[in-house]
Amino acid sequence: MTALLVGGRLILDDSIVPGRLSIEDGRIAAIEPDDAERDGPFVAPGFVDLHVHGWGGYDAMGARTDLDGMARALLRHGVTSFLPTAVTAPLGALVAFAERVRDWLPDSPADGAQALGFNLEGPFISPDRKGAQNPAFIALPATVPQAAILGLLPGLRVMTLAPEVEGGLDLIRWLSANGIVASLGHSAATVGQARAGYSAGARSTTHLFNAMSGVDHHAPGLAVAALLDDAVFVELIADGQHVHPALWPIVARLKPAGRLVLVSDALPLAGLGDGRTAIGGLEVDVLGGRATLAGTHILAGSVIALDSALRNLVEAGLTLPYAVAAASRNPLALLGITDRGRIAVGQRADLVELDDRLGVVRVAREGEWIAPR
Ligand SMILES: [Zn+2]
Repeated sequence: MTALLVGGRLILDDSIVPGRLSIEDGRIAAIEPDDAERDGPFVAPGFVDLHVHGWGGYDAMGARTDLDGMARALLRHGVTSFLPTAVTAPLGALVAFAERVRDWLPDSPADGAQALGFNLEGPFISPDRKGAQNPAFIALPATVPQAAILGLLPGLRVMTLAPEVEGGLDLIRWLSANGIVASLGHSAATVGQARAGYSAGARSTTHLFNAMSGVDHHAPGLAVAALLDDAVFVELIADGQHVHPALWPIVARLKPAGRLVLVSDALPLAGLGDGRTAIGGLEVDVLGGRATLAGTHILAGSVIALDSALRNLVEAGLTLPYAVAAASRNPLALLGITDRGRIAVGQRADLVELDDRLGVVRVAREGEWIAPR
């Protein structure tokens, strides 16, 4: 197979180097620095969205055609891998969601982002920090036998739960023993309860600052534990609505470079402008880029994709390699996936070309350019 050449400003682990990649059999076969490429597009590893409920009118919890549509819509925003993410729902509906994603995976479209499994946001969360999750479906881990959730396991990569609820720590141990990332969130934990959760095996933090006990100087909570533990990953929704951009550099200073994970937390309505939708049985209004539970100021997910999040982080003063790692290498590291997510020899050629304003020009999956704008 002849090598495909891609030139531009290559975004490597910690630097930007003008040069060319050669791609063979869907992998990066060689990297050749060349200053003549210094005016070319940026070339980044494909983005990875671990927390996304839908896009472009397609719902992760909908039918197989929704999963197809969502995967294709995400790819056009530079996302080459993702986890379809369920919201808090009755256990039977979650098992059905898990079965649907598993069944769909082998036939998922080659011109869409590739699902790496799926993510469950709930149902074992705190009613005190439910955010936009439907309280009717919140469950207590101590009252649900493990046999009842065995059907969720195959393909489950990340689960959000509150460590302080009854049975929470046991659930974290069980998930960790099964190779699933326990992500602390929708939680009113004290800093001590949060630390107990991380000690029990939790490795990540769901949308840092949102729907959690925070940086209250009299009552420090989950956000404090997450920011101060170097081993712990934190998700950030960088849409400017969920966390004020003034706080992003605080996160960047406190967290080691490999621990920040950009997520969209996007709603099915993302990309369609203003309107009303329902998620988890609750009505949500989208107005001017802000999604809230109808009739309230409670945020209910975003309407961005990771291309916007990347631009926003760079506009806030973070470096491009740092922001790109948060959108690609870091989420994969959390899942233990090492075959992609970096511009390096041997890596799978999932690539995004970006213009000077960091707009997506085209996207490659395994070396095939499949999403030109
Ligand atoms: Zn979410």
